[in-house]
Amino acid sequence: MESATRSARNILTGLHEVMASKNHAQGKLNHVVNIIGEALSSEVCSIYLLRDGALELFATRGLNQAAVHITRLGLGEGLVGTIAENVETLNLDEAAAHPNFRYVPETGEERFHSFAGVPIVRSERAVGVLAVQHVEPRKYEEVEIEALQTVAMVLSELIANADLIDEPSAHGSNETGTVSLSGLPLVKGAAAGVAIFHQPNVRIEHTVAEDTEAERQRVYSAFDKMRAQIDRMASQIDFGTGGEHEEVIATYKMFAYDEGWSRRINEAIDSGLTAEAAIERVQQRTRMRMRQIDDPLLADRMHDLEDLSNRLLRIVSGQMSTAAQLGLKKDSILIARNLGPAELLEYDKRRLRGVVLEEGSLTAHVVIVARAMGIPVLGRVRGIRHKVRDGDMLLLNADEKSVIVRPSLAAEEIFQHDLIDRQKKKARYAAMRDEASVTKDGVPVTLMINAGLRDDMSALATTGAEGVGLFRTEFQFLISATLPQRERQQRFYRDVMDAAGEKPVIFRTLDIGGDKALPYLKDETSEEENPALGWRALRLSLDHAGLMKAQARALIEASAGRTLNVMFPMVSEPWEFDAAKAIFDGQIEFLGKRKKVLPNKIRYGAMLEVPALAETLDILLPKIDFLSIGTNDLTQFLFAADRADPRLAERYDWLSPAILRFIRRVVKATEGHDVDVAVCGEMGGRTLEALALIGVGIHRLSITPAAVGPIKAMVLSTNHAEVRAKLEELLNSPTENLREALTAWAASRGIETG
Ligand code: PEP
Ligand code: MG
Repeated sequence: MESATRSARNILTGLHEVMASKNHAQGKLNHVVNIIGEALSSEVCSIYLLRDGALELFATRGLNQAAVHITRLGLGEGLVGTIAENVETLNLDEAAAHPNFRYVPETGEERFHSFAGVPIVRSERAVGVLAVQHVEPRKYEEVEIEALQTVAMVLSELIANADLIDEPSAHGSNETGTVSLSGLPLVKGAAAGVAIFHQPNVRIEHTVAEDTEAERQRVYSAFDKMRAQIDRMASQIDFGTGGEHEEVIATYKMFAYDEGWSRRINEAIDSGLTAEAAIERVQQRTRMRMRQIDDPLLADRMHDLEDLSNRLLRIVSGQMSTAAQLGLKKDSILIARNLGPAELLEYDKRRLRGVVLEEGSLTAHVVIVARAMGIPVLGRVRGIRHKVRDGDMLLLNADEKSVIVRPSLAAEEIFQHDLIDRQKKKARYAAMRDEASVTKDGVPVTLMINAGLRDDMSALATTGAEGVGLFRTEFQFLISATLPQRERQQRFYRDVMDAAGEKPVIFRTLDIGGDKALPYLKDETSEEENPALGWRALRLSLDHAGLMKAQARALIEASAGRTLNVMFPMVSEPWEFDAAKAIFDGQIEFLGKRKKVLPNKIRYGAMLEVPALAETLDILLPKIDFLSIGTNDLTQFLFAADRADPRLAERYDWLSPAILRFIRRVVKATEGHDVDVAVCGEMGGRTLEALALIGVGIHRLSITPAAVGPIKAMVLSTNHAEVRAKLEELLNSPTENLREALTAWAASRGIETG
């Protein structure tokens, strides 16, 4: 690192003089390639700049001078075009071996083997490329690449001031027509509003420092201010009440006080950069690293760091305003590359209608917060910031995975009608909240909700659901940067039960592994070829008995004086249930000896999601109080189809004889046992599927809160005896398309299937 700082510093000292000189821009660039070439002992150093949509060779040391302003490469063309298009660094010992290599005869570059190039970035887009080449085939060292990246940053200032490039507009497009963009629904719902950019880009005016010590002091004082802001947030009542906000702020705090981060910024200042440039340089480097690491959870935490980095940049540059601080004037849809949860919370909830992100993932903190705020979010909308202008009208429909930019008046009208219909439906479902969920012939169908966060608990009251049929305790572990300690878990479970009041909550013990990897257990779970079939859920918990004991004790202590409902995920054999229960028994004995108040009662349950368990139900059923069928995993195991693979998402239908017969068989096996049987997978939250489940004998569903209204409407319009008979008929001699047959039948019987 020392020498990286030194190489960069030497170059920057040279550049400083060049930039201050009275030379015209071309003269400065010629000078720059010589300084860099010499400092890195590189035979070739070239600068390509984006002009009229192509990368033009502007200056070179080592290549034929005759090629300057002649050689032009399109974005994506050759190595230089690849670097610019992907905004990525290339470091190759043999340039010609790269699949995108393109030989440019007029440059005379055939003698040179090794090649390294970095993008020159402005407003997060490449406006040029800085490249070095060597005769000898050799990889450039990390320190040399670092120095090139630092120099590229300074160059971006020099060339922008000289007006040499196609300047990317701060935000977006010159387009005027309607565009429809698609993305990944992160929080469902629909909204219309004007586009508001979360953050005007901080323009970095100067990159090379006049006085390094003064820059260091500026960064120190910005860090102090930022830490004070975070500490203030932590003490606000909104945040101080535990739950997920506490986790978010804890992660922020961890980064804000992270020595490594401030040290890296300091090192960048040592290399001769201004405070702003140093912060941006470190952020750029983190972004590049993140692109290479394919770990969504880590990426989410890195977004928190990016959020803080932006905050620091705004403080140090004095360009403080976000759209939140300027205030929303109309119904707005927020556009951002990514957003920190705290940043989202700064918005006026009455005017903020939706969020569209260029990045984003289901487990990101900001998504969890948006869900709790009831704001639809569409993520992974590529290029949104370049296709939308501030103030453009947007129609966001996260359910349909789309956002329409600058819609026609007709499209807007249709959309407004759709919004009114949604409102009406919501109002109708809300009015049914206190109605009992019984079929027309008087058979009760218990509706419970699936939850995982404390904020989800408010849905019990708004939906009128009878309890929480599945509380996914792993969510708490997933949003935390570190393993939640036992006391924290206990406080959390108690809060959840308090929020549920008299209604029961079924806590499922940790279901991690598979697609739910924890950063702090990553080494142990990341090597699996088939993680869904791997060391996950109860298997992992039984092997990590410490983890499970801590959770058992937290749950038992949190339920002192009340009933604890606990269930185990992925039970494959009855003995696994015994082993899990033994851990709870051990904790009860331990706490009993210490005269702790114990739960009045513990009800035990198992999830049936591994088909093998269906063959041993006669052994399991006498041991348990309830069984919950997890159709998400069950389907993937029955059909041998990965639930996370988008290509298989629609291949097998939940309304298939295989699944429905399987569930019917399980229900039959439970007859005569005092065991509640429920379905808690996503299947139960869809009206037609829920109708079929009732038809095979299911009377309890645990579903996503938004589905409670539509499912209750279906139950109220169904005759139980009739649907039982219909399913018997359909399953005994199945038609090719069971879905079609059931849809037609439901319509003929006036059943509301939404
Ligand atoms: C299931 O598998 O159906 C289930 C409810 O659990 P999860 O989706 O958390 O795996
Ligand atoms: Mg499951």
